[in-house]
Amino acid sequence: MADILYVVIPCYKEEEVLPETARRMKVKMKSLVEEGKISDKSRVMFVNDGSTDRTWDIICRLHNEDKLFSGVDLSRNRGHQNALLAGLMTAVKYSDMVISMDADLQDDINAIDSMIDKYYEGCDVVYGVRSSRDTDTFFKKFTAESFYKLMKLMGADIVFNHADYRLMSKRALEGLSQFGEVNLFLRGIVPEIGYKSDIVEYERAERFAGESKYPLKKMLAFAFDGITSFSIKPIRIIITLGFFMCIFSILALIWSIIVKIMGNSEAGWTSLMASIWLIGGIQVVSIGVIGEYIGKIYKETKKRPRYIIKTILNNE
Ligand code: UDP
Ligand code: MG
Repeated sequence: MADILYVVIPCYKEEEVLPETARRMKVKMKSLVEEGKISDKSRVMFVNDGSTDRTWDIICRLHNEDKLFSGVDLSRNRGHQNALLAGLMTAVKYSDMVISMDADLQDDINAIDSMIDKYYEGCDVVYGVRSSRDTDTFFKKFTAESFYKLMKLMGADIVFNHADYRLMSKRALEGLSQFGEVNLFLRGIVPEIGYKSDIVEYERAERFAGESKYPLKKMLAFAFDGITSFSIKPIRIIITLGFFMCIFSILALIWSIIVKIMGNSEAGWTSLMASIWLIGGIQVVSIGVIGEYIGKIYKETKKRPRYIIKTILNNE
């Protein structure tokens, strides 16, 4: 008997893409069942992330028409990462492996086959990695790649060019459920779980309908969250900076004493003003960074729920 696969798809205002996504997924899942790779108890689980359009109606309709489709309705919009987590934690109860992907099918669904093969070869986590970024605008490509590089530099162990398209086994998901953090950055957490992992490459396509739900503002917030949730390097950098500033100011002091002894002591007003501003600026930035971490601690200590599920539609 083949294992049960659940495909979790978070959806935020995706009425334009959902019917087509469902159609393509149905074909894919059917062929996987026929090939004997997955059990016929496998499902496609859409998570409605508090959409204000007809997304949930469409999910309900799909579920009524075909038991292949399941739905999870969140109480309100919680953002992609939380919606995904809600789906994963719901799906793990019914399945042996779960694949997460986006509603717009930018991630090639044909990579699912090799992901499942790797799963049967004993991998608990299989990362989908995009082989090229030709379909992205120069801006998106540049910002995304700088983001990965910055994350690496900051010491967060994330897989290059991997978004949230991945397969996870039941026990990997059970591991994930033990991470209680509120500042959720799944790409950073999953490698922390451990177990055997591998990657599968695929070409990423363009969105076939609708527009990106990740405007620049959300992207920047996401990147910033990613870095500050995983690394305390920014604090270390500030400490190092402060250290060098101390050494520098001692040197400057010695120098000004020498100048004074030599009787050449008209003080440079410009350099004085400049240094006051510089130090002031550095102090404010430092306080800001420290504040950021305190903000995180504050949020974590409240232990608020990361999502609340309103309804689950599932035909086991
Ligand atoms: N999404 C979500 N909640 C949000 C924003 C986005 O569940 O608040 C979902 C969205 O429906 C899609 C996925 O996250 O399935 C990725 O979003 P999108 O394709 O817009 O991002 P991009 O591919 O442009 O980075
Ligand atoms: Mg997309």
